[in-house]
Amino acid sequence: MQLLHTFRAMVNKAIEICLAEKVNGRLNLRNRIYREFRERYGVLSSYPYSVAEIAWSIVKKHRRWQRKPVAQRLMLKMDCASYSLNNGSLSLPHRKNGRIHIPLTFGDYQRLFLTDPGLKRGSLTMTSVTIIISFSKESVRIEPLSKVGIDLNEKSAVLSDGTRYDLSEVARLHTEYGIRRRRFYRKHPHDERLKKKFSINSREKARVNQLLNRVSKTIVQKAREKSQAIVLERLKGIRYASRRGNGKSRASRRRLALWPFRQLQHQIGYKANWEGLPVEYVSGSWTSKTCSNCGNINRGLKLSDRSWRCPCGATHDRDYNAAQNIVARSKIECLPAVLAGAQSDVKL
Ligand SMILES: [Zn+2]
Repeated sequence: MQLLHTFRAMVNKAIEICLAEKVNGRLNLRNRIYREFRERYGVLSSYPYSVAEIAWSIVKKHRRWQRKPVAQRLMLKMDCASYSLNNGSLSLPHRKNGRIHIPLTFGDYQRLFLTDPGLKRGSLTMTSVTIIISFSKESVRIEPLSKVGIDLNEKSAVLSDGTRYDLSEVARLHTEYGIRRRRFYRKHPHDERLKKKFSINSREKARVNQLLNRVSKTIVQKAREKSQAIVLERLKGIRYASRRGNGKSRASRRRLALWPFRQLQHQIGYKANWEGLPVEYVSGSWTSKTCSNCGNINRGLKLSDRSWRCPCGATHDRDYNAAQNIVARSKIECLPAVLAGAQSDVKL
């Protein structure tokens, strides 16, 4: 805990220096604080490096938010060379007694990562309750035999092969917790401390996260089995749909703003990368309104229209049609099925 507090103090001091002296860039900041911090805080040289990294990222965010930048959370970050792991015990450098040893508790899933020789250990992030270790691996890129497009909407994830994953539970959870939160504020309107605690509701986050992780895992697993490239919509500006004055109700805007599109996208993206599956992002404009059969655009289609009929005769399910359009916009080249099937017969 003492180390965490010192680390946070160092980050805040670095932010101060960065702003006062207009230091630009993570490396410049590190060079600026390196000597001074070693003398002032007396810690090993590995700390100022990650201090500069975190301080700089907070300063950068601050430019967007225009809020006084400050590190509030108790956390510490270290690069892979500065800590070591031995028999489930974490060893960190510390000034006075050389190194601190922290026994770790973890389950079978975590053990898989710690014992896999094919993985490279990365940075370590520590908070007062958790330790996060990042791992990387060189994945072998899979040559796709086919591709699958995914349409993400408020209620479901629909694949271009017709599979549908229900996500209405996510919206339901947000509504449920939203009601609880409002009820709570009405009862305790002036309790700032509890309000803060409530607004970063970790239970809600954990439940949503678990749900999304299950869906993204299944999607990637199935794509892996079929050697499919994954095609997703580029989600730039999705949050715009949740701004005021777009004709949607407050409740609907709230759900849209909270709906973790990006989170699910991100999960699918990194899980696919981990497996070596190619991922492509295509433009998401008009995907729902374009007929995947003839290309005609149905400008009158409303968000409430779940299915529609095109003048060309095709009948569309809204989301399935969007997934078809997404996969059609992909430029990834697939191995021809014949060649792929015959590959094992080729002798060189
Ligand atoms: Zn049509």
